[in-house]
Amino acid sequence: MKSRPDSRLDLIVIGGGLAGTAAACLATTRGLSVARVAANAGGLAFAGGPLDLLGVYPPREQMVRDDPWEGISALIEGSPRHPYAVLGVDAVRRAMGEFLAFADSAGLRYCGMAERNVTIATAVGTLKTAYRVPRSMWRGVTALQDRLPTLIVDFEGMKDFSAAAMVEVLRSRWPRLQALRVTFPVRFPGIDRHNPLLAEALESSEIRAKLAEAIRPHLSGVLMVGMPAVLGIRAGDRVVADLEERLGVGIFEIPTMPPSVPGIRLQSAMEEALRKRGVQIFDGRRVLCARTEERLCAGITVGGAGEWHETMEAQGIILATGRFLGGGLSASRDGISEALFGLPVVQPPSRDRWHRGSFLDPRGHPVNEAGLAIDDRFRPLGEDGSFAFENVFAAGSILAHQDWVRTKSGAGLAVSTAHGAVEGFLRYRSGK
Ligand SMILES: Cc1cc2nc3c(=O)[nH]c(=O)nc-3n(C[C@H](O)[C@H](O)[C@H](O)COP(=O)(O)OP(=O)(O)OC[C@H]3O[C@@H](n4cnc5c(N)ncnc54)[C@H](O)[C@@H]3O)c2cc1C
Repeated sequence: MKSRPDSRLDLIVIGGGLAGTAAACLATTRGLSVARVAANAGGLAFAGGPLDLLGVYPPREQMVRDDPWEGISALIEGSPRHPYAVLGVDAVRRAMGEFLAFADSAGLRYCGMAERNVTIATAVGTLKTAYRVPRSMWRGVTALQDRLPTLIVDFEGMKDFSAAAMVEVLRSRWPRLQALRVTFPVRFPGIDRHNPLLAEALESSEIRAKLAEAIRPHLSGVLMVGMPAVLGIRAGDRVVADLEERLGVGIFEIPTMPPSVPGIRLQSAMEEALRKRGVQIFDGRRVLCARTEERLCAGITVGGAGEWHETMEAQGIILATGRFLGGGLSASRDGISEALFGLPVVQPPSRDRWHRGSFLDPRGHPVNEAGLAIDDRFRPLGEDGSFAFENVFAAGSILAHQDWVRTKSGAGLAVSTAHGAVEGFLRYRSGK
């Protein structure tokens, strides 16, 4: 029998990416009754695990920021329509703090350096800044920082993770780095496409024992071992601790190409914690349309497998449907449109202005800043320049005037705008 949503809730959050997940967390911690509806996991299935707040600003100068807060202050001054500028530094700080505390209570530990960004090595040997990394990646930060003698291990058959290639690219910066290829203790056809299966397999202590046996003879002089991020799916910390004990060295994970196991871990731990707090989670369900009356959204229609559909009502809606990948925006010959409410989208005047002449133009491409303009309560604006609906709020990458990819601010943007949208709803409800 299909579970049926309550017909009267405080908030319906549409979207299961980081923005929708954060909105549901922040709303439930404020005592609101919430349902979250998502067609799929959105960017979480792709995100490698690190949480970025602001790694680069201004992107045109490729200025890498050690101190993301200083960077955000500069961004607010230089880009006054950016969502961080609508929020202000203090609200961004509060939002990240609350989200990380919620994640911690869900068993997801993130590590970092107080107010600063950290640097990790990626699977292709480049360096990447992040604000916080999953605990399973933390030793990679310290190993890189202190240039410790480290062994990078990959598995035979993995096409998109090569320890040898990573070591080759990093050799000049990290001389005591070595590569090792081992056979994964369980045979999978198409091993390169099955990160979650490898992670699942490593939850077995027997499999871990075999993996440790294969690595042990190569540890002379080595203090740390880095591996693709497949070290357990539910019990990641336990898998890492167990391998450390077996090998007597520090172990860390390195983000992989999708499907991303740290993304799956984040999604499943957060959903479990949200359910425990009474949030109704409707995964694999698409919001088909919204019923609007004047400037209010009175309800939404949700579809699932087959013919099933259901009407849901709530006092407020948070739209966290993402961009083109998520399905929140769609592009046609005539331009970019918002898929659910038909909200106006800030965009270049014609399609031939979406991209600049050079792919690597340091100014970026105007299409990447297309999205919804909002008021100070995070309500998308209508054609007349004031809010389109009194009780519809927007969060995440669907918002205009930001390019999270170039500024390395994906998680920060998602979480802090979710905070803005939830606070916007509370102000609407209290009539302020
Ligand atoms: C490849 C990749 C790598 C990344 N790496 C990092 C990283 O290292 N660090 C970092 O901080 N961030 C990273 N991110 C970004 C981070 O995940 C972003 O915060 C995210 O992509 C934007 O989140 P979002 O929730 O706004 O949108 P999305 O993640 O796109 O989610 C949109 C959601 O809306 C749902 N949806 C859309 N329409 C409907 C509908 N009609 N009905 C129901 N549901 C609907 C979708 O199913 C989806 O769940 C990465 C993202 C990608 C794609």
